[in-house]
Amino acid sequence: MMLRLEGLGKTYGSTTAVEAASFEAAAGELLCLLGPSGCGKSTLLRLISGLTEADEGTLWIDGQDVTGVPANRRPTAMVFQSHALWNHMTVAQNVAFGLKVRGMPRGRIAAKVAETLALVGLAGFGPRRPAELSGGQAQRVALARCLVVEPRVLLMDEPFSALDAHLRKTLREELKALQRRLGLTVIFVTHDQEEAMELADRIAVMTAGRVEQIGTPDELYLAPRSLTVARFIGAMNACDTRIVSGRADWFGADVAVEAADGPAMILCRPEDLQPGPGGLAATAIRVIDLGPLMRVHLMTGGGDPLVWLCSRAAAPVPGQGLRLRPTRLHVFREGLRIGDGAVQPQRLQRVIP
Ligand code: ADP
Ligand code: MG
Repeated sequence: MMLRLEGLGKTYGSTTAVEAASFEAAAGELLCLLGPSGCGKSTLLRLISGLTEADEGTLWIDGQDVTGVPANRRPTAMVFQSHALWNHMTVAQNVAFGLKVRGMPRGRIAAKVAETLALVGLAGFGPRRPAELSGGQAQRVALARCLVVEPRVLLMDEPFSALDAHLRKTLREELKALQRRLGLTVIFVTHDQEEAMELADRIAVMTAGRVEQIGTPDELYLAPRSLTVARFIGAMNACDTRIVSGRADWFGADVAVEAADGPAMILCRPEDLQPGPGGLAATAIRVIDLGPLMRVHLMTGGGDPLVWLCSRAAAPVPGQGLRLRPTRLHVFREGLRIGDGAVQPQRLQRVIP
């Protein structure tokens, strides 16, 4: 393990910014901290960097307890949302700074800076000033400035969120390729679930200072542990209903679920609906062309809104009535997933002929 947190926490007055966070990151892993604004992502990253002092808990980096170690002596480096390059210095001087303060000989610095700039696709940019760079290039320099000191753990706080969508995607792909190639350990903060799904080996979902669940994108998507995680990672159709003898009314469809009887919130992802006989009756209201897929907004017989993601060929026209049945359900009670929550396809076939 390259990074290990045990009960790491920080409180500001009456606000618990980070509540006893405990998790690990392996060497060469890219771990995303994902959650809405204000949930404590930046604070947690600053606790790891040492820029903010923890009230409680212990932090190990590469097997060393660094809890009491000041930021400048931790083997970490941080890339911020706004690049914060020094405008009066050239790109090369910006990147060289960390090596200078560490006392690396001049001759070696020049070579190391050139090598690192090439790594981020900016070979030859050394003599430029930050003002002569595009937003994407400036963020690449900020990354180079961190990489050049070879941190054990690279910390990134929403580094691409100020860039336009296209550039964001490009930089994301470049970062992922670089991280794989160099075997970097990265803790990447984002509020964008798509960014997290694309970049992360594992994602830690945070809400209100707490790490709710950690898992691979697949684990979080297929088996969210709480209603909050389920709603944060991808869209959901949610029905507040009751399970009686292992069955429930889901928007008018009789479904079988693997969960104990009682009140339940039953969710289904928009792509987990299938047209066919049986199932719930709904009317298409709006059909949105997403390119590779179509998003269909429907109204159920009971007047509830429903969203279905389908292929172009399967898409209805507005006003058209159809029947849909869920192929996979997520069952929650009091905000937590109960049982495995999935409908058994064979059973579903029998319940909804
Ligand atoms: P995020 O990065 O997820 O948006 P932050 O870590 O910045 O969230 O903030 C988490 C909570 O801690 C927020 O309620 C914020 O107002 C509070 N907070 C963060 N830093 C400070 C600070 N220096 N002083 C007081 N409150 C803070
Ligand atoms: Mg933040």
